Amino acid sequence: MFNGLHYNSISSWLKERFGCRVVKLALDSALTCPNRDGSKGTGGCSFCSAGGSGDFAGSIGEQIKGVSRKWRREGGSEDIRYIAYFQSFSGTYAPAEKLRAMWDAALSHEGVIGLAVATRPDCLPPEVLALLEEYNKKTFLWVELGLQTSREDTAEAFNRCWKNSEFEKAMAELAERGIRTVVHLILGLPGESKEDMTASARYAASFRPFGIKLHMLHLMKGTRMGEEYLKAPFPLLSRGEYISIVCDILEQIPQDITIHRLTGDAPQETLIAPDWTRNKHEVLNGIQKEFRRRGTYQGYRAQKSEECGIIK
Ligand code: SF4
Repeated sequence: MFNGLHYNSISSWLKERFGCRVVKLALDSALTCPNRDGSKGTGGCSFCSAGGSGDFAGSIGEQIKGVSRKWRREGGSEDIRYIAYFQSFSGTYAPAEKLRAMWDAALSHEGVIGLAVATRPDCLPPEVLALLEEYNKKTFLWVELGLQTSREDTAEAFNRCWKNSEFEKAMAELAERGIRTVVHLILGLPGESKEDMTASARYAASFRPFGIKLHMLHLMKGTRMGEEYLKAPFPLLSRGEYISIVCDILEQIPQDITIHRLTGDAPQETLIAPDWTRNKHEVLNGIQKEFRRRGTYQGYRAQKSEECGIIK
């Protein structure tokens, strides 16, 4: 099932939808975040690095040219298309006309067939929602929201600076406009149990997003949480625990929700812990192996969501 995987990978979904390989190009929009510039908070979420959770991003033009060249080289004669991915900081935290200029610049590049914009629920004022609605009609688009957890006390502890009610409002407003959404969750946040993590995933899935993205908490140099860990290490999930929780979560997520990530891409040189996250292949292979051992797959314990209005 799922082209040999046990879950509905976005790569396979995009290949089927567009008839060729489609990859995301991470771009630096050079915007900031209300949790950093003082309008909501300062210092950001305590796990977030100065790169705004998008440490591999570069300038729009350079990144599109550079990374698309790399993909073309690797792919040889393969037809490859791109989704311009505005990943770092809050990708809608700017006046609508500035966003329009950035998105047009990305879409004008040869081979770019759509946009992915990562942002916060409190960065979607009416003019930005109207702009997203306009682009959603003329290109392939999804908006990513970093929920991280549904536990408000955990969110307060890492300084998220918005409430679940704001997330619920944003998801409703995007759905009203027919805009695909992807919800990002972090597993292994301090103080969270396996039940908390699966509850967060069920909460995210209850909004019937287009996609869900999971990754292990990365502790990075230069972040508050990383510094706290260095002073007083706290328990982190082992690779085996992480794999088991990911499988538990995917079994509860309806099959038509696409899975955008199961491992993180932390820069190797600034990663403090957990060390096992450096080897993504071992984690991904471990997830497949665990599903085979269980004889299960994504949605094994979920209700079908076709009748629930998921936006495809
Ligand atoms: S909202 Fe995103 S960009 Fe802003 S501080 Fe938190 S993780 Fe970093």
